[in-house]
Amino acid sequence: EGMTKPQLDPKDLARRIATGDRTALSRAITLVESTRGDHRAAATALLDSLAGRTGRSIRIGMTGVPGVGKSTLIDGFGTMLTAMGRRVAVLAVDPTSVRSGGAILGDKTRMARLAVDPAAFVRPSPSSGTLGGVAAKTRETMLLCEAAGFDVVIVETVGVGQSEITVSDMVDLFVLLMLPGAGDELQGIKKGIVEVADIIAVNKADGENAARARLAAAELRAALNILAPRDPLWSPPVLTVSGQTGEGLDALWAAIERFRAVSQETGSFAGRRAGQNVRWMWSMLDEALRRALIEHDGVAAAIAAGEAEIVRGTRAPTAVAASILDLFTRR
Ligand code: GDP
Repeated sequence: EGMTKPQLDPKDLARRIATGDRTALSRAITLVESTRGDHRAAATALLDSLAGRTGRSIRIGMTGVPGVGKSTLIDGFGTMLTAMGRRVAVLAVDPTSVRSGGAILGDKTRMARLAVDPAAFVRPSPSSGTLGGVAAKTRETMLLCEAAGFDVVIVETVGVGQSEITVSDMVDLFVLLMLPGAGDELQGIKKGIVEVADIIAVNKADGENAARARLAAAELRAALNILAPRDPLWSPPVLTVSGQTGEGLDALWAAIERFRAVSQETGSFAGRRAGQNVRWMWSMLDEALRRALIEHDGVAAAIAAGEAEIVRGTRAPTAVAASILDLFTRR
């Protein structure tokens, strides 16, 4: 303990990941998810040495409320893609798994076919506190998967709040799954989720649901027409799909490929990634600086005292912040 174990040697791991070694990939993800200082250092070195091998996948975010059929759809969609010769990694961002004590999203038992597919890799959500923490680890895991040769990365998240906004900042495009249920489509628009969606799929368009799903899709198309698109050259298509029967999954992939082609042509694909990377660097800096501040010897007492004074109303937050910063930067 305390020392980096030989099998966690970054150079060795990097070499093995590059050959597609799944054991090495799993081990590297464990390293990336660890909060231990020596593990963080090894993970950073590992990611740095793999930098030249990353970025070659299409990164797809998928969201929808619980029960919309995410796991069923990803299982069928992923299996379709591996049959086409793709290598598919499924990662999950689920901040609620921390509270419920178990990762739900990305659970292998929910994706029975993909879980045993040699061309697929399914990884549940890391269970590490904040949404920001989960997102940072998922982002690094995505890079590891790319280095291991996975050319389609699906990041699954549950459509219940902030998580899809966070996930939309680590993927190339975002697929929103909806139900043909009444009023559902307008709810999504109110929540602003539709605004981050590049493709919308009304799921469970099978059996007696099929007609209702087509109607819901038509209503959504009409509603989207009155919203300004995020990208003037891409209006989000609204598809009807069924994860259960597999119907429409080929059209979903075609829409994803079309999005990639259009956005690569306009340069927005590279532009989005570049912006994401710069924001990622800043969020790492923000976090590191905040930690450095909190852990700084001479500042802890001033923070506690300052908070108390703010609560009592005897000092202004601005002044307290200024004096804490002063202590921090004085050295
Ligand atoms: P998740 O919570 O979004 O991952 O949803 P699941 O994939 O677990 O599906 C929730 C429920 O909907 C399950 O009972 C599934 O059998 C059912 N379901 C999933 N996909 C479909 C579909 O395409 N059509 C129909 N009719 N039912 C589906």
